[in-house]
Amino acid sequence: MKKTFYSLSLGLACLASISASAQTGQRAILPANGQLPTKVANRGCAAMEVLDAQLAANPGLAQRLSAIEAQTARYAANPVAMRTTAAVTIPVVVHVLYRTSTENVSDAQVQAQIDVLNQDFAKTNTDASLIPAAFAGLAANTNVQFALAKRTPTGGATNGIIHKVTKVTSWSSNDAVKNSKRGGDDAWDATKYLNIWVCNLGQGLLGYAQFPGGSTTTDGVVVLYSSLPGGSAAPYNKGRTATHEVGHYLNLRHIWGDASCGNDLVSDTPTQQTSNYGCPTFPKVTCSNGPNGDMFMNYMDYTDDACMYMFSNGQSSRMNALFATGGARVGLATSNGATAPLTVAATSLTLYPNPATDQLNIRTAMDTPASNWTAKVYDLRGFEMKQTRTSASGTLDVSALPTGFYQVVLTDGVNVQHQRFQKQ
Ligand SMILES: [Zn+2]
Repeated sequence: MKKTFYSLSLGLACLASISASAQTGQRAILPANGQLPTKVANRGCAAMEVLDAQLAANPGLAQRLSAIEAQTARYAANPVAMRTTAAVTIPVVVHVLYRTSTENVSDAQVQAQIDVLNQDFAKTNTDASLIPAAFAGLAANTNVQFALAKRTPTGGATNGIIHKVTKVTSWSSNDAVKNSKRGGDDAWDATKYLNIWVCNLGQGLLGYAQFPGGSTTTDGVVVLYSSLPGGSAAPYNKGRTATHEVGHYLNLRHIWGDASCGNDLVSDTPTQQTSNYGCPTFPKVTCSNGPNGDMFMNYMDYTDDACMYMFSNGQSSRMNALFATGGARVGLATSNGATAPLTVAATSLTLYPNPATDQLNIRTAMDTPASNWTAKVYDLRGFEMKQTRTSASGTLDVSALPTGFYQVVLTDGVNVQHQRFQKQ
């Protein structure tokens, strides 16, 4: 695997070349000092730089990635036996972080982005008709689909879109946007949801993603708000930035392998010299890949939104391995995040004392113990707290919980109720 570690000196060298990038058609780069071109001159994606930084910071990650590669190879060799489901619908939560009204994209625009993802991943995009005949047989319906969440991690109802105001004027690829304490918004349980953050991403970046195998607190995809369908980031405003980044999230590499005539770990994509920009003319032969040349219309290249319109079968196999036996994202295939929660019962339950220290009593309106209700406790980010125990008499032992606020989800097997309490 080819690795480019971004050192300070390399970053500064790249900074010097920014002004030349528009002429030379080189990718937008990450200046080390955060100074940035305000306009996106070329498609810029920091997914590989983020991966390199995570590999440098986390010695265990390389081993996890190699285990994922081994499982991916096993799946490619025997997809029928390892497949757990014919198609996967991934529950999605979209975190819109905005400082200005322009950055606060509408729910309709978010839905339009989900629609683009669904078309692109199902090969129902209308521009699939433009795929050159030489590549048409390789174009894939991936059987991966996306649905806005209807259920929060704690079981509440949601439309899957969070609009949150922030004081941050511009974000970088340092994951602050995924952290409420840094002005962003915490991830929902990444084993059950695809988290997409929509924000004013700076540094000339359109987006970045985290590959499978990384930390759940930073897992997901970040895109520039104006890259959504109908946004102002032309020629990158048809929603293909999200398609490209979700490709990374589902373990796809850049099609040129991030090296000169590099390897993208997919067998049916031609080896190509480097990234393509704009809208090349077919065929574009590099790295002796004639007569068909580069698959520059692939979503994992750097071409304009209007000029990328396919995943390959090999890429589809790589993505689907994640949902097969032993796959790194298999939890998404069984998540109930896109299923609406049950209607809350009319039965009135109360919790007391609140705040509680050791025991929390669950009582009905008749002040009798709610012994047929069971309770699960979650922290406010939606992670289940396993330290609690319910007793047959309708009390909840919270003595082992750290102090703080929690949500308890009560169910009698049919109905569900949510209530907050404080542990002190
Ligand atoms: Zn990328």
